[in-house]
Amino acid sequence: MKTKVAMLSENAVDKRIINDAALKIRDGGIVAFPTETVYGLGADALNEKAVAKIFEAKGRPQDNPLIIHVADFNIDEYVTEVPDMAKDIMQKFWPGPITIILNKKEIVPSITSAGLDTIGIRMPQNNIARELIKASGVPIAAPSANISGRPSPTDMESCVEDLDGKVDYIIGGENSIVGVESTIVDCTVNPICVLRPGAVTLEMLQTVDSNAYIDPAILSKPKEDFRPKAPGMKYRHYAPKAPVKIVSGEIDKVVAKISEMVLNYNEQDKKVGVIATDETKDLYKNQIVVSLGSRENLNDIGKNLFKVLRSFDSMDVNIILCEAFEEVGVGTAIMNRLKKSAGFDILEV
Ligand code: AMP
Ligand code: MG
Repeated sequence: MKTKVAMLSENAVDKRIINDAALKIRDGGIVAFPTETVYGLGADALNEKAVAKIFEAKGRPQDNPLIIHVADFNIDEYVTEVPDMAKDIMQKFWPGPITIILNKKEIVPSITSAGLDTIGIRMPQNNIARELIKASGVPIAAPSANISGRPSPTDMESCVEDLDGKVDYIIGGENSIVGVESTIVDCTVNPICVLRPGAVTLEMLQTVDSNAYIDPAILSKPKEDFRPKAPGMKYRHYAPKAPVKIVSGEIDKVVAKISEMVLNYNEQDKKVGVIATDETKDLYKNQIVVSLGSRENLNDIGKNLFKVLRSFDSMDVNIILCEAFEEVGVGTAIMNRLKKSAGFDILEV
């Protein structure tokens, strides 16, 4: 398949390109586009055949549901009921990086929700994304625009790397400003429950529902028979080619431990990549070190995370060692993605 690629700017969205891509969506095609969280791969959420193409292009397991993206606050057409708590979340955080789970209506085909009776809905903040949804005139089902299992793309180049030749259109834009996928909150239950941490943090959600909590199942290593409420959480994800190991503890001890591990691996002729921070990057000698940004700015760390994970693929490293972050605020989302990319291989020092 020949993929059309076009670069847009969020501040001056070229309507001709948007209309061209929207036509593809209406015709049952698939289009990658930027959002503030990560790039998405979209299709008409109400068209079974179109949605099937997303699963095929990504190699995504059929039991992993898609989030539908809307550009209008009126979502009554797709869900049976919008509880007050969900309305509050929409009012406070939409458009933005949060997906709400509600009970779906028949109109949303089963393939989109992977057989579930519920559906995740989000209104993205990114202008290009919202213009595309509006021009398409349909809700757009869109998972992250990567081959399944790989780190999610936060820039156009990563989308092209994974999807060129597999999709109808790739619309580029600025790099994603959030960098980790949306928070997912189940609003079919009371209290509301976070199924995936993201930039809208638990602390922020507790201003809507003081009893909001994070599904404990997603915070630790999944058991064999693990059936999380967000099906995607059971898959290995965000993984670069080399295995990742996280080292957690007081930062001085972490730096010392990683340095010692590097020496050991080097003795075994293994090439190591270190994921560090601005505060620590100069403390590691004689190896590949990439900084995620300053520990003072966790938003920046989130923004850079997937690109840094991807960057090791072209550096031919045998192993990646990564410093841990405190699990508060956005740190919870960052550690959730890191732990998954490491297959929960964490060393406490
Ligand atoms: P992605 O867009 O690739 O980040 O994937 C979307 C994720 O949202 C999936 O992996 C699911 O875990 C989660 N999700 C989507 N719809 C639902 C739903 N109805 N209930 C629970 N989780 C969902
Ligand atoms: Mg994904």
